[in-house]
Amino acid sequence: MELKAGKCPNCGGELHLPENKNSVTCMYCDTVISVREAIDKKSHSLSGSIETWLVLARTAKNGGDNLEAIKYFNKILEVDSTNSEAWYGKAVCIYSTSTLLSIKINEAVSYMRNAVKYSNNDIALRKKAAFELYSMAMTLYNTSWNHAFQYMSVDGTGAEHGQRSSYCLEALKFAIELDDKKEYVDEASKILKAYGRFYSNSAELKILLESKKNKLSPDSDTHVGALPREYLPFLYILFILFSLGGLWEVYKGEVVMGFITILFFGGGGLLVYNKSNK
Ligand SMILES: [Zn+2]
Repeated sequence: MELKAGKCPNCGGELHLPENKNSVTCMYCDTVISVREAIDKKSHSLSGSIETWLVLARTAKNGGDNLEAIKYFNKILEVDSTNSEAWYGKAVCIYSTSTLLSIKINEAVSYMRNAVKYSNNDIALRKKAAFELYSMAMTLYNTSWNHAFQYMSVDGTGAEHGQRSSYCLEALKFAIELDDKKEYVDEASKILKAYGRFYSNSAELKILLESKKNKLSPDSDTHVGALPREYLPFLYILFILFSLGGLWEVYKGEVVMGFITILFFGGGGLLVYNKSNK
């Protein structure tokens, strides 16, 4: 049997009522009450609470207290999970609590999807959401890019920026999806321009990472290839010893093997010598 939340019209006690009955006796005040009336009273008091919570949430949000605002948006969503304004507000506020270490743009995008869905695709809301998502994505992208540029030499910086960029791209894609291009051509082109910039910056980062790699390869003053110069004498001694070994093989009659050994190690020695003098 389905029970519905109700409120006793007589004493205000919270009740769970069987919808298929017309009247019940309140367990608190022993009054016989109408089930329909009790359920209506409850939903009426809920919508009153939602109005109150919305006011509190908006006040907190405007005052910059995002966590407080999220608390009230959550209260609303607990009793009405289809409240578009609460989803929208939660999306904006959760994004505002985002830091580079704790990216919340993914959450913001999924809350925004709910806001759009439960607004029944309201055109004004779609437009508003598109620009909210667009500015979220671009702000995060630029912050991440500046961070990546500053800490380029730290391992993993590029990968982290790449990861964050992919979240931004998701937000931008959704923004573009929401933007009605026919009516808001300017705004849509702004988004698309940002979209293009996103890719060009990614390419820029690749070039920077490449130049960093080149800088990291050993300096020719101290190294030959990857080999430190102080090891060179040992290498020459090895080349000379093996070449002499080749000569010894020729002397013992292993002419072919001997010449191959001399060519290989003698030639190798000459190559290294040549490279080290460049
Ligand atoms: Zn009662």
